Amino acid sequence: MSNKVIIFSAPSGAGKSTIVNHLLGLRPDLEFSISATSRAPRGKEQHGVEYYFFSADEFRKMIAEDKFVEYEEVYAGSFYGTLRSEVERIWAKGHAIVFDIDVQGGVNLKRIFGDQALSVFIQAPSVEVLRERLVGRGTDTEEAIERRVAKAASEMEFAAGKFDYVLVNDDLAKAKAEAEGLIDEFLKK
Ligand code: ADP
Ligand code: 5GP
Repeated sequence: MSNKVIIFSAPSGAGKSTIVNHLLGLRPDLEFSISATSRAPRGKEQHGVEYYFFSADEFRKMIAEDKFVEYEEVYAGSFYGTLRSEVERIWAKGHAIVFDIDVQGGVNLKRIFGDQALSVFIQAPSVEVLRERLVGRGTDTEEAIERRVAKAASEMEFAAGKFDYVLVNDDLAKAKAEAEGLIDEFLKK
């Protein structure tokens, strides 16, 4: 296996973290890409664990120095991106890189890495089920849930035809097995 990347994108609540964490626990040859960001750490987040944290000025300087494979200003003043050094760090260990990234970022990464990349869009069986899962997760206010659900509908439309696979996460055990199969096949190539 050499220099491969696996990209997971999904509307919030579709089950991306659940499936990605399952795969990372199963396969020691996969490694999660830690993004750089200029937003402030939340709660117990640590530099080099959840993100690499920088000031907006430091981030802009690194953009000028061409240190990023890709970056986006996701919210005004809050930059997020993938450092070239992170990609090199993971490939140097012989691991495949796993990206957990929003839909736009996923499409950008697939364009950058081409055949080296497997891009998977995870989708809930319906918008109603997505809403139920977000309610069940219990981490968002009612307002935030409605915002995420509305965004999900436009993300699904935008994603159509832009990913290598669409994985419908209905029965979780089946979705995990399907994801395992996709990765086995891709890493064998
Ligand atoms: P995301 O990372 O895409 O925002 P999560 O992985 O946090 O989504 O999943 C959202 C919620 O739905 C979690 O509470 C998770 O346990 C639950 N969940 C994930 N997949 C399924 C499934 N197939 N059936 C029922 N609940 C699920
Ligand atoms: P949060 O601040 O909630 O951790 O992340 C906000 C958003 O930034 C999410 O939609 C997430 O997918 C996106 N994001 C995280 N890392 C990257 C990255 O490296 N590149 C891009 N383009 N977006 C990212």
